[in-house]
Amino acid sequence: MRNELLSWFAREGLLLTNVVSPMEDPEHDEIKISVRAPLLALSRSSTDFRECPDPVLFGYPESSLEMMNLDDMNEFVLSWFEQAVEAGMARCFVCNQVLNMGEEKPWDAVFVSHDMYCWLLVHFDCKRYLNRDLKGRHPFEVSAQPPEFFDLRLI
Ligand SMILES: [Zn+2]
Repeated sequence: MRNELLSWFAREGLLLTNVVSPMEDPEHDEIKISVRAPLLALSRSSTDFRECPDPVLFGYPESSLEMMNLDDMNEFVLSWFEQAVEAGMARCFVCNQVLNMGEEKPWDAVFVSHDMYCWLLVHFDCKRYLNRDLKGRHPFEVSAQPPEFFDLRLI
């Protein structure tokens, strides 16, 4: 992830920090601090977490991060998710059904901001079960892959 995007998350207060002291990890004699930016979940499966796409790498102007707030980022992430849904890659985090754009059961992109910072997709009807399904997930134990590159400028 580019430093500019990491800095943006830091500015918005959305970076999680994990500190491992030598007491917990005898192999290292230094305090290890790792940071984690919010993730995107294409489904609840551990292989379906993605690093947050970088708006600038998707065609936004170089300076756009300075101007963006969380609402703007939500909108950008939603447009990425819509492409993932079009490609048939996205599932409801609760019921695990593949989502599609014209379906009867509407869904929504949700930003989870407790325990871990994560965007995910969920049916409106499934939202009430979301907390149950998020329980026990530790953001530093989730490994995320780079996001798929979608051409968002065509939208
Ligand atoms: Zn569902």
